[in-house]
Amino acid sequence: MFENLIAQEAVRAGLQDAVTEGSVPPVLLFSGPPASGKLTTALELARALSCTGSRAWNCPCPHCVRHRLLTHGDLLLLGKRSLPEEISVARDFLARSPGQTSAYFFLRSARKLLARFSPVLWAGEETKLGKAVPLIQSIEESLDLIQPDKLGPSLSDSEAKAADSVLSDCRALEALCPEQPGVFMIRNMEVWAQLAPTSARKTVIIENADLMQDSSRNAMLKILEEPPETVRFVLLTPRRASMMATILSRSRIYNFIPRDETTSRLVASRVFKSQEAVSSLQAFFESRMPFPPLEAKQAARGFIGCLLASRVEGGSSLGPLASSLAREAAASEAKPRQVLDAIIATTGGFGAKDKSMTGSFLRFIKAMLSVFSELLSESSGNPAILAKVEEWSRLAREAAIQYSSLNRNPELLAEVLADSFGVAS
Ligand SMILES: [Zn+2]
Repeated sequence: MFENLIAQEAVRAGLQDAVTEGSVPPVLLFSGPPASGKLTTALELARALSCTGSRAWNCPCPHCVRHRLLTHGDLLLLGKRSLPEEISVARDFLARSPGQTSAYFFLRSARKLLARFSPVLWAGEETKLGKAVPLIQSIEESLDLIQPDKLGPSLSDSEAKAADSVLSDCRALEALCPEQPGVFMIRNMEVWAQLAPTSARKTVIIENADLMQDSSRNAMLKILEEPPETVRFVLLTPRRASMMATILSRSRIYNFIPRDETTSRLVASRVFKSQEAVSSLQAFFESRMPFPPLEAKQAARGFIGCLLASRVEGGSSLGPLASSLAREAAASEAKPRQVLDAIIATTGGFGAKDKSMTGSFLRFIKAMLSVFSELLSESSGNPAILAKVEEWSRLAREAAIQYSSLNRNPELLAEVLADSFGVAS
């Protein structure tokens, strides 16, 4: 067990001992940066806890068979996590070397997302699933066409089409995944946790556990105070400092160390058979996003540069970043509206016209907010311009909220935002 966990020796040794001795505590907290192997380890722990055989990765017992496909009924997965990049990496891997390893990796990456829409979690609240239902059905149908044992040396047309459709459906589905588990999910999970497992143990995994809202966190805390004997809870967080002290005190903490460039490259080559030069696993995954963060950042800098250039009077002083952005924009002679239109065209209306671009709007807003905050921290800035930047920052944040909570059309929101920035159309 834990054969696939690379470069987390302390965690691996601790968990292997606990599983072998039967001393896995009721609540475990996996703390560590993104892409350090927390979810992989938690899923592997769930499999080892359910296993009635040797616990090896290729154990043929009926529980391991289902855990490897992430379809075991004794596992629940909650919490928001961005998965389409991983699914995209898996899609490349599957095309490059079709076989059991890549097929399992692909199926599992899609099922990690599907698990967050489990009927167990949404019981009684199915109407809230709305647009997610046809996507889930379509993903399930496509996944059925990819059978690890039946893949040839290259993907057939129908397999390749199914894999592409899983990827685009998952991108759209991810946008519908709630930011935090609702309190109804925690209550549903509690009901489920009280029922006997079909294997030796049930496992509940909660990603980004520190992001839970008060109501969900309190409901969760109640369960952790008296956890059912047959259930293990694994909480995952990249921000241990923001975990509630009462939850920390009930958890055994496992620290995942950041992966450096060498281990990141090792994971990319060993797990994904990729020879790419990667600086970090997170960057490796992010480069797979449509409109990746790096591109969003360049777009945001270009747009903000134009906004600044259009406001700068001759001779008004600007901080170093503001002047360099404004200078670049002035050199290109583009108007803010043209720059925004180009971004809208590249991103299919921020996903409004091209659903594979879902998520690009929030990435663009996030990139703008980060540039705004850099500008606001420049001490030599012009006060009138800084006041404008502060206002733009507030408006951008509001647009993000409207997009996430009210599900508004991102292209229209971008237009409205541009108007409120004073950009002439
Ligand atoms: Zn087994």
